[in-house]
Amino acid sequence: MLFANAISDNRNVRSQMFNNQQSIKNVPSNTQEIPGYLQLYQTPPGENISLTEFDEIAMERLKLLKNFENCKDSHPMHTEEFKNKFRKTCDKIKLIVFPDLKPTSSEDIAELWRRDNIGHFILRLAFCRTPENQKWLTQIEGDLLRFRLRQEREVVVDSSLSAVNFPIHKLSSEEKKEMEEDLEHACQVLSIDMKNKAFYKVDFIDAIELIRRGSVHLKKGFAYFPFEDLVTILVSKMKNTTMAAMARAFKHLAILEEEGRLLPRLARLSNNAYSGKDYNGEQADGSIIITRHMIDKLAVRSFAPCMKQMHKNLRLNHHLKYGARRQYGLFLKGIGLSLEEAIAMMRDEFTKKIPSDKFDKEYSYNIRYMYGKEGRRVPQTAMSCATIILNNPPSATDCHGCPFRHSEKQVLKQKLSGESILKKGQVELIVDLAESNQYDKACTRYFEFTHHLEEGGLGQRITHPNQYYEESQKIIAERIAAKHTSDSQTSQKSEPKEEQMDTQ
Ligand code: SF4
Repeated sequence: MLFANAISDNRNVRSQMFNNQQSIKNVPSNTQEIPGYLQLYQTPPGENISLTEFDEIAMERLKLLKNFENCKDSHPMHTEEFKNKFRKTCDKIKLIVFPDLKPTSSEDIAELWRRDNIGHFILRLAFCRTPENQKWLTQIEGDLLRFRLRQEREVVVDSSLSAVNFPIHKLSSEEKKEMEEDLEHACQVLSIDMKNKAFYKVDFIDAIELIRRGSVHLKKGFAYFPFEDLVTILVSKMKNTTMAAMARAFKHLAILEEEGRLLPRLARLSNNAYSGKDYNGEQADGSIIITRHMIDKLAVRSFAPCMKQMHKNLRLNHHLKYGARRQYGLFLKGIGLSLEEAIAMMRDEFTKKIPSDKFDKEYSYNIRYMYGKEGRRVPQTAMSCATIILNNPPSATDCHGCPFRHSEKQVLKQKLSGESILKKGQVELIVDLAESNQYDKACTRYFEFTHHLEEGGLGQRITHPNQYYEESQKIIAERIAAKHTSDSQTSQKSEPKEEQMDTQ
């Protein structure tokens, strides 16, 4: 009986989805029908797209959002530096219309509009599975929309607004005139600016943020505000809609389980929120060969806290449990440690506690498996921060995972305070970021402070332990090169003196 109910429930939801599919066919599909190029993400795409295009657009959007986040990390959003940096990204990733990079052909604008719409809705589906993912996507999409709206002229925003059914009404000149004095005082607008300023009204429920700020005029259940505040209303509306839609989508995803084509793609997208390169241990020609004897030094200088923690544990206890063996082993493979060196390094440690043949029987198979020499014979790639943070959380006796995500506040504070390189204020900042679930930001600040960079000096977020390692090695190499140059310049300067002395 229960089973029958479940089937009929599924059927109902499916037929509801079919009806929705019919209604979203009304989305503008050709250039003439597109009223403005600015998306407010009210209507999901209704057309058929190939799986190849699905993958391509989704990855591009993820890359765009990650780049936007990195730009935000280096410069405040209102600055020219931010705008210039992000403009370059938009120019490379053809996905949204950047205000001053607007293509001249209407076909190109329509195509960007379409890709913008599809990318946003695919990520909603991909990121609806965990509260952390939902929060990240909503926040970053909200910030991106805020930035785009702030760059736009009033007429473009009005045109986009008229294409969706938000209950926001622009005041006519008569309406504005009638309440001019009230608007001027309540919205704190200079009387000299009143003439050219547009005002809008919305149900007061949709203007809670502005009401809290005390910058609206309230009358008969409506909130009145100037154009500048329209951005706040539109962004918070979009964020609320996105959160609610993701909660609904999560419920309905169960119905897609039978599809088998879409779900693995969506899981890949959200698990791999990191959209950079795969670290599989293939080293570029000319890169330094890593041996097990170098690991102790590298760990101190260039390992992310998660890897440092496991390395320390290995040296201390001469053992690693399965979760740590995989996380740390794939990381070492990713930085270029060969299979032979990896086995030798683990054997050196493990055999301090167990006989060598036990190690060969029980542990070396897994190491060879990671390098693609056993089982399915597929070499595996190192885990990104998203995978480490979202999957396989450690128990109290494990040492894998991410210290920013999986350590208690006090324990994390204690660990960071133990690092003499970090000042008290820096430790507090990192702990606060970790407390507010911004693990990647906490790790980025940790990287910057321990590499003597200023806050935001890295210019990107840490989203992969191997990226952490590579960036650290890059900085160290640059500093060594700079020191060599300055040393040789100093010795060149001192040479003429010696010549002079010689000739005297
Ligand atoms: S944020 Fe990533 S790199 Fe940093 S400690 Fe956590 S898992 Fe490691």
